[in-house]
Amino acid sequence: MSFTRLRLPLPGMELGHVNVYLVKCSDGYGLVDVGLATYDSALALLRGLKQLGVRPGEITKVFVTHFHADHITLAQFLAEVSSPDFHIGEGEISRVASSFDDLAKMYAEEYKRHGAPAEVAEAFLKVHPMSRFRKSFEDVWRLQWRSVRDDEGLDCGLRAISTPGHTPGHTVYAAAHGIFTGDHVLPKITPNISWYPIPGFNPLKEYLKSLKKVATNKRGYPAHGDEIGNLALRTEELVRHHEERLREVMAVLREPMTTYQVAQKISWDAGPFEQFDVYNKIFAIGEAYSHLLYLEEAGLVRRVEKDKVYWLPAERRDNLQNIPLP
Ligand SMILES: [Zn+2]
Repeated sequence: MSFTRLRLPLPGMELGHVNVYLVKCSDGYGLVDVGLATYDSALALLRGLKQLGVRPGEITKVFVTHFHADHITLAQFLAEVSSPDFHIGEGEISRVASSFDDLAKMYAEEYKRHGAPAEVAEAFLKVHPMSRFRKSFEDVWRLQWRSVRDDEGLDCGLRAISTPGHTPGHTVYAAAHGIFTGDHVLPKITPNISWYPIPGFNPLKEYLKSLKKVATNKRGYPAHGDEIGNLALRTEELVRHHEERLREVMAVLREPMTTYQVAQKISWDAGPFEQFDVYNKIFAIGEAYSHLLYLEEAGLVRRVEKDKVYWLPAERRDNLQNIPLP
């Protein structure tokens, strides 16, 4: 096997761990994702490398799948103990705001406009990883990043595949034996597909298109959980999940509703919406919003802007049974 999985802890995060993959490169080693900027994660990374007989200085390349805290924030730490080239999808650099205060405020305002109570939106500002790991994010954003294009051949036997959806510039890295999927395809849970403050960005549509790009009979090496035996089968399950959710959103939308009300009404694997903590409520609102945006572009729902944004079924409901998939 030409790679090794390092399972790093994620203290304070429900996911529990993130997988970081060590790959062999022409001039040393590469890491796919680096982990969360905490003492426990940094220690686990150094110990893992030591057990494998790899010195930190031998890490010459880092390939990050996306800008979420559990994948990227340990990058500055790595830059201190080694001097790797840092790679990330070009969409992640150009389309994600680097001012985290502004970004967090944009989210809070948008979610209030979509019916979230002020206390949910405001609490979100405090618990979001962008706030909790703000210092690390600021450090990481100052690093010299090499932007990676779709289908670009890279060192370490990898090829980048641009897979926007979970984030605007999410990128997976294909090797001969399988694909390092980041959060794009996970074995047990469905990645959160949420709204982004990017005009015209239809995250669910992008995500479903991106799933097709990895629907191969290869293995998947995800950022959370164990190896995926067959990516085509798992991506098919994920498409079905979103198709069902789109139908459910249409089914509950019998009268004008805000995104928040839609999120309250639809069923969630994790339990009833009202029992969610603030963090998961925000995830759920974002998830409902991305499905409503998809249905809006498909011409099946429309919005009315008043004091808040309300959604209505579009007049033409004849094609309800055939929600078009990209
Ligand atoms: Zn993520």
